[in-house]
Amino acid sequence: MTLTASHEPPQGLSLPPEWSYNDSANLYGVRDWGAEYFDVNTAGEAIVKVPSNGGSIEVPIIEVVEAMRLRGLEMPAVLRIENLLDHRITAINEAFKRAIENAGYQNEYRGVFPIKVNQQCHVVEEIADYGSRYHHGLEAGSKAELIIALTQLKDHKSLIICNGYKDAEFVELGLYARKMGINCVFVLETLGELDIIIERSKALNIEPAIGARIRLASMVEGHWNEDSGDRSIFGLSTDALLTVVDRLREHNLLHCMKMLHCHLGSQIPNIRNIRSGVLEACRYYAGLVAEGAEMGYIDLGGGLAVDYEGRRSNETHSMNYGLDEYCTNIIETLQESLDSEEIPHPVVITESGRALVAYSSMLLFNVLDVRDHKPGKLPENIPDEGHDLLHNLRAVLDSVTVTNLQECYNDALYYRDEVREQFHRGQATLRERAMAENIGLAILDKIAGLLPEAKRVSAELDDLPVLLADIYYGNFSLFQSLPDIWAIDQIFPVMPIHRLNEKPTRQAVLADITCDCDGKIDHFCYEGEIHRTIPLHTLNQDGEYYLGVFLVGAYQETLGDLHNLFGDTNVVSVHINEDGGFEFRKEFHGDSIADVLSYVEYEPKYMLEQFRRNAEQAVREGRINVAMRQEMLQAFRASLYGYTFFER
Ligand SMILES: *Cc1c(COP(=O)(O)O)cnc(C)c1O
Repeated sequence: MTLTASHEPPQGLSLPPEWSYNDSANLYGVRDWGAEYFDVNTAGEAIVKVPSNGGSIEVPIIEVVEAMRLRGLEMPAVLRIENLLDHRITAINEAFKRAIENAGYQNEYRGVFPIKVNQQCHVVEEIADYGSRYHHGLEAGSKAELIIALTQLKDHKSLIICNGYKDAEFVELGLYARKMGINCVFVLETLGELDIIIERSKALNIEPAIGARIRLASMVEGHWNEDSGDRSIFGLSTDALLTVVDRLREHNLLHCMKMLHCHLGSQIPNIRNIRSGVLEACRYYAGLVAEGAEMGYIDLGGGLAVDYEGRRSNETHSMNYGLDEYCTNIIETLQESLDSEEIPHPVVITESGRALVAYSSMLLFNVLDVRDHKPGKLPENIPDEGHDLLHNLRAVLDSVTVTNLQECYNDALYYRDEVREQFHRGQATLRERAMAENIGLAILDKIAGLLPEAKRVSAELDDLPVLLADIYYGNFSLFQSLPDIWAIDQIFPVMPIHRLNEKPTRQAVLADITCDCDGKIDHFCYEGEIHRTIPLHTLNQDGEYYLGVFLVGAYQETLGDLHNLFGDTNVVSVHINEDGGFEFRKEFHGDSIADVLSYVEYEPKYMLEQFRRNAEQAVREGRINVAMRQEMLQAFRASLYGYTFFER
């Protein structure tokens, strides 16, 4: 008897037979999360779009990948588009400018970039450079970051905001900066810092500029809601704030109190939380003015979200507002609240990190292998003397229809598990077990294929496409390049960067190459919903299949770690020119194996020497000849100084 199995992929999606680049764009939602920076061209390639003179310049990402390969920069790689960083700085500053003009607000906006969001030298350099025309400054949360800020900022109208716990050394550096004419502000996180600041300032005879970080009672939604509220670990209580005022007054330094600072949390998805936070901050600001503090600046921290899901909702990884709405809300709230108490409008500062840098970077990698869940080749027939259970399974396979899916599902699992039981007891052979598993899989596959036609399905059947999803092994380390997927279940947009005018026929989850069961991506947002699999193309024999994970410019690079000793990836920073060409402004080769070994205190030179000694020993013992020794040493050296990722 002949067995037939449906080799159609288990599809949760019913896609039309004709497929175009537009279908891919809609499927992967690129126009929703791409914020006009990403799209698909008619050739089915993912493109970067750089806004320019009312239009945009488009570059297919796959072309950059080709150009990288020619320069010896293999996958995986982080691709940074300088123009997007530039455009984000412009967008935020211009949006505040518009909001200020429209409202008639009587002061200006000053942004600062929090260095912790991406400390990479060339990113901070670019921000300092592109930001100088808006006097966009830097926020430092540690001595190391202050040192970065002091050396990168060239424009004295830009601010340096110092958050974090500050010791005497930190304070001295900041005071010297003020003496040099840099507008460096200490934000008090605790009362203890105040004594150090007063003491050092008197000793050096340099007056500080002081801000107070308050703990707002307004709570926000999203992952970072503990940055606000009474239990926030940051900021001063109202009582402590008044102690600060009193102490400054005692020391005749109340005129140094210039800023109110608050930070509601990162990635605030709901605009209403922002409005209520700003309102509360205004009341504190007014209170400090009434106490006689000089003031003049209000710093509203970070929190401007990125719509990673493209859903424009108040879900954690989305946002229910746009940039203009954010700015207008802040400016109008400040204005209304302060006008009612006849308080002059302060300079408005925000510390947007994520919204500034997320778009500019993407992680690119190739797919190394696929473990599909297609049933293997089924035998032409099952021998009559074959196991009864195999005949039963085959009968189930033949009987699957859209009306008996649950029944066939139950039977398939039952018979398959019976064969496994018998195998345990020595009553079925290895080949019989393999055949049972194979037919069982063919049944599940057939059921999954019919699910879209079924009227009502149980939860377990609903889950079937996920269980049958292919595993695509990507050449990257989640822990190194996308740590927030592991740490906080962050959603990032994922999309192939080519072949987008072909219909993706497989449902897949992505696994990285760390061989850690946490090293996987199995939550995706497309078609307005969270899915546990993503549609992808089958691999071609003759070419690489490249995927991109987008909007990864914020927080991912330095939070990443060396799990399984996969190191930093290659990084290129590309500038797109007006004519649509691009140039490699910066190239960084990722860590070599020697690099990562030395991070964990190995001495690569000594390791090479050790290996040489082993090889020499083998020569002496007559196991290998000298020529072979040389070959082995060369291979060892090539590995040691090569890339930590999979190399073709
Ligand atoms: C992390 C942080 C930011 C940046 O927040 P984003 O949400 O990335 O804009 C700003 N200010 C402070 C004090 C922070 O701790």
